[in-house]
Amino acid sequence: MAAAHVEALLASYPDFPQPNILFRDLNPVFADAVAFRAIIDDLADQHRGQFDAVAGIEARGFLLAAAVGYAANAAVLAVRKGGKLPGTVLIEEYDLEYGSARLELEVGQLSAGTRVLILDDVLATGGTIAATSRLIERAGYTLTGVGVVLELTDLHGRERLGTAPVHAIMSI
Ligand code: 5GP
Repeated sequence: MAAAHVEALLASYPDFPQPNILFRDLNPVFADAVAFRAIIDDLADQHRGQFDAVAGIEARGFLLAAAVGYAANAAVLAVRKGGKLPGTVLIEEYDLEYGSARLELEVGQLSAGTRVLILDDVLATGGTIAATSRLIERAGYTLTGVGVVLELTDLHGRERLGTAPVHAIMSI
């Protein structure tokens, strides 16, 4: 079961990247072939039949989106940090648990109404996924789900998201 793999492998680092932040490190989950396959299968299964494209948020969301896109025969969108995409891009600025950030999405990659599943590693305050949701909707796509490996429930990020179903493999 995917949650058991995450629970067994998750590492925690106090005061990283700055004081009073307890950073949850999912790299050991990605680095374990059995665990990685389990989380990809879980994310794909939870939303099966409900999406035509996956949007991965830079950087660890890319790892998830590529694998889920392949497993589900879905298109892959890269939601990038500011200043990295060419051409016409949509921009959303937002606050992070620590600092602020900007995300961007190239326009015109998929047809209007395409059903999109957003994927990221961690749902913390929800600012990142809320900003990505706005990008998806401004691009004319339909957000049909959100999948994360880990939800930090103390930060109530889920409350900042809209009505699309949110699936977290593990919540702490
Ligand atoms: P939020 O916008 O929900 O506050 O933060 C989520 C984003 O910040 C995600 O893209 C995630 O990668 C990163 N993030 C926030 N806190 C953590 C954490 O404890 N561990 C990891 N791995 N990423 C985090």
